[in-house]
Parts: sequence; C-alpha cells; structure tokens
Amino acid sequence: MRQFSGKTVYKGIALGPVRVLKNQDSPIRRKKISDAEAEICRVTGAKRQAKEKLQTLYDRALKEVGKVGAAIFEAHQMILEDEDYLGSICNMIQTEMVNAEYAVAVTGDNFFAMFDAMEDGYMKARAADVRDISNRLIRILEGQKDDEPFSEAPAILVADDFTPSAMIQMDRKKVLALVTVRGSANSHTAILARMMNIPALVRVPLNLEEIPDGVQMIVDGFMGSIWVEPDEETCLRAENRMKEERERARLLEQFKGKETATVDGRKIRLYANISNVTEIGHVLENDAEGIGLFRSEYLYLGRKDFPGEEEQFQTYRQAAQTMGGKKVIIRTLDVGADKQVDYFDIGKEANPAMGYRGIRICLKEQKMFRTQLRALFRAAVFGNISVMYPMITSVEEVQEIFRVIKDVQEELERDETPYRYPEQGIMIETPAAVMISDELARLVDFFSIGTNDLTQYTLAVDRQNGRLDAFYNPRHKAIFKMIRMTVENGHRHGKWVGICGELGSDPELTETFIRMGVDELSVPPSMVLKIRKKVREIKDV
Ligand code: PEP
Ligand code: MG
Repeated sequence: MRQFSGKTVYKGIALGPVRVLKNQDSPIRRKKISDAEAEICRVTGAKRQAKEKLQTLYDRALKEVGKVGAAIFEAHQMILEDEDYLGSICNMIQTEMVNAEYAVAVTGDNFFAMFDAMEDGYMKARAADVRDISNRLIRILEGQKDDEPFSEAPAILVADDFTPSAMIQMDRKKVLALVTVRGSANSHTAILARMMNIPALVRVPLNLEEIPDGVQMIVDGFMGSIWVEPDEETCLRAENRMKEERERARLLEQFKGKETATVDGRKIRLYANISNVTEIGHVLENDAEGIGLFRSEYLYLGRKDFPGEEEQFQTYRQAAQTMGGKKVIIRTLDVGADKQVDYFDIGKEANPAMGYRGIRICLKEQKMFRTQLRALFRAAVFGNISVMYPMITSVEEVQEIFRVIKDVQEELERDETPYRYPEQGIMIETPAAVMISDELARLVDFFSIGTNDLTQYTLAVDRQNGRLDAFYNPRHKAIFKMIRMTVENGHRHGKWVGICGELGSDPELTETFIRMGVDELSVPPSMVLKIRKKVREIKDV
C-alpha cells in the first residue's frame, strides 16, 4: 500500500479500480532504428488493428446514432487507406531510419497543417480527422489500449491532466473519481469535476508508468489523499466514511422543498451552475430554484465546428422548458484561455488568461455572436431565460453588445421569427468592472460576480497554474471589498446582484455574503442543500 497527497478539488470518497489515461499530447521520442522493413511491418499491423477497431465503432455508432453520426468512422478508415498518408510514413522510416511512432506523429502533423491551411471548410475539417487517426495509430504502436476511455466499467481515472473538452465527454456514471499529476484546483477542469460531483484530487505526485491499470485505489477528497493498493483496514475505513457521507446527504434531503430564507425571513435566490443540459436533472434533484450560470461555451467544445443556430436554440429551449418557468441564466460564449476550440484559431498567446477571450471574441466575431443571440432570444419564448455576458471591462463593451442586440432584434422582426427580449446581465469578474460598477449598473438588469476570474485578475495569479495555488486566495480582503462595492453599486440603481463563482458555494461565507446584501448565490448542484441549510440558520440580517 502506498499513500500520496494532493490538492482537493471536490470532497468525496471513492474506492475502485484504476484506469490510467496516458497523455496523448506527450511528445513522441525520435529513435534511430536499424531494420526499416520491421518498422514498416509494425505500421501495417497497427493499421490493421486500427481498421478493425474503426469498423466496430462504425457498427456501434450506426446502431446508436445512425448513418450520419457513424460516417466519421468511415472517413477515418479511408484516411488509413490513403496512399499519400501511408507512403509518407513509410518513406520517412526508410530514408531517416526512425521509429514508426515518430514517423506517424510527424506525418500526422504535416497532413494536419496541410488540411488546416485549405480554404474549403470540408477539407479544413479533415485536419482534425488526420490527427485523430495518427493518435490512434500511435496508441496502438505504443501498446496502449485503444478502446474509448469511458466505455468501460466504473473506474478511478488517473492522468497527467484532463482538458475541459475531455471532461465533457466523460460518462459520469463510469467515473468514480479523478486524479491528476498536474492541473490546478481553480481550473475549469476542476470546476467541472465539482459540478459533476466527482471526488477529485490534482497535483498528486504519481509516476503513471508505475500504476498498472486495474489496481485498487482509494481517493479521499476530505483528506486530500489517495492510497494505491490499500490494505484491508484502510479499505474498511474508506467504506465506513462513504457510508457516513451517504448518511449526511440523506439528512440534507429534509431541506428539499424548503424556502431559502433566513430566520427573519430574508429570501435568497439559490441557483445552480451547469455546463450542459444533461446536468439539469442534477439541478432539479437538488431542488435549486433556477440556473444561475449555464456556461454555454461547453456546447462549442470537443467538436469540429461551431454549433449552428438551430442546435443552440434546441439546447436553450430544452433548458428553459425543463426548468419549467424557473430562471435560467445563460452566459454567452466564454472561450479562450484554458477553453480552447480547434476550429477557432486563437493562436498561441503569451498570456492567454489576459488574452483574446470571452466578450472580446464575441464582439470581434459578430456573426458567431449574433447566431448565439438569435438562438437565445428565440428560446426565451419557451421559458424564463436571462442572458449574461462574460469578461466585461468597459461601458463601451456593454454599449456595443446592446447595438448588436438591437440589430438581432430587427433581424428577427424582419423575418417574423417569434422571440422574447430576455433580462440582460453582465458578469463582474475583472477589477475594472468592479471599479465602474456604478456606471455599468445603469445599463443592465443584474450583476453576477465571477469570483474565479476576479481572484485571478485582482491578485495577479494565473488560476491555471497549479504552482500558484497557495497564492490564489479568493478570501483575500480585496475580493471581499470588491464584492461589497459591486453589491452597493448594483443596489443603488435597483439591480440585483449575485455570485456565481466558486466562492459563492463556500458555506463558511454564506453569512458574510448575506450580510453584504448579496441577492443570489449560484453554486454547484451538489452544494444547493448545504447552502440552504446555512441560510436558514442565519439570524438578524
Ligand atoms: C468566474 O470567473 O468566477 C466564473 C463564474 O466564470 P468561469 O469560472 O467560467 O470563468
Ligand atoms: Mg470567469
């Protein structure tokens, strides 16, 4: 039995078999070989295995999602037969006497760049296919399991790190816990783990090569520890703790259906954060009174092209209808920084957190922004949708947003498309927005304070950088002063003010926020009942 410590992302306990996911982005080593024929044979063997796997995936997809959805696997099989692609790999092995993995990786990169540079949208989209196929071949050549990572029995997933797009592809039911060697407790990956209710630890100093797939592991988010191959006594202790946790959750059930109000009757709006409509079940199950932050960007991640108006409309309408008249606050696209989309070429930035992201992209890429606004305004007919905008730093940005909105409304009226004008809010997540919140409050209907970014920008600490976790202190005095200032300025103009950043779900701070006058808290679904319990204990406000 070995014990390791890490940084807790979500407090929960899990016990089960490990599944190690090797980092696909790890650099492929160039090795000199002496037998080119044998190396080419390895490529041919890997190609055969990849084709068989793709056929299985094609058959399964055909049954589950139909011909159009399955076509991707057909396209991949065709790339595997492409003479230029294979010729380039074999040629490199022969002329440079290098290992197959390296030849596949370099050829994959070259073909990716070639397709990606093409004007034609269809050909451009093939770039990602070539990369997928090359990665599949490399996985086979390296002897890694080539199955889909989340299609097996429930397991504790261990990896160097997970990207937000890998997270959204996970089947929650199959993930007992997450453990990463790198990563940060404040990243979007960590936020997703909390929202999905998955016990998780980051920055656990594991050597992934030494952890065989299938060994037992305990992940204890309360203690910030994991045990590899735990002994019987440790397993028993973990099982008892799991039982206690289930009991604690059961006791919280009594707060379902109760009002979120202090002892003296001051009501607080208690909403939940989501990134995907599939999480709405969780929102309702935990009796949240609405959705305070729907991170719409997750609709744009892990795919090959932008979601169109119709697809977005369906998603937002589904959210509004499922919530049955309760408020659903949808934040417009907030990509950039750690949330990267391949089809959207942001390019390498020295400081991505302070770079091209959020509303800056939307106001530049107005066609894409208008598509989202059209979908949102149309969906608003079907429920209680509000819209809010991320990363605001100036009055001019908000004025520009309203100019775009006006155009969109005129357009919808021209084509006689039914729509409703939703409540309009902004996120307060930059120090600039706090300092001009008096002016901003005149323009919008509400503020939602994003303490995650506000902490990052106020304290000059990159929230993605795990080495700085000790400096990332959302409880810093400066943050509390900023929250107070934002609330006062919002209220001066009769606007409500909420918190949707992670700090809002800290039960130790619920009373502080309520005494500051905060009107709404939007928290991970799993925290709703805990916060309601807290609010109901507060007196004399
Ligand atoms: C925030 O910054 O606090 C926030 C809620 O937005 P995100 O975490 O998605 O950046
Ligand atoms: Mg933010």
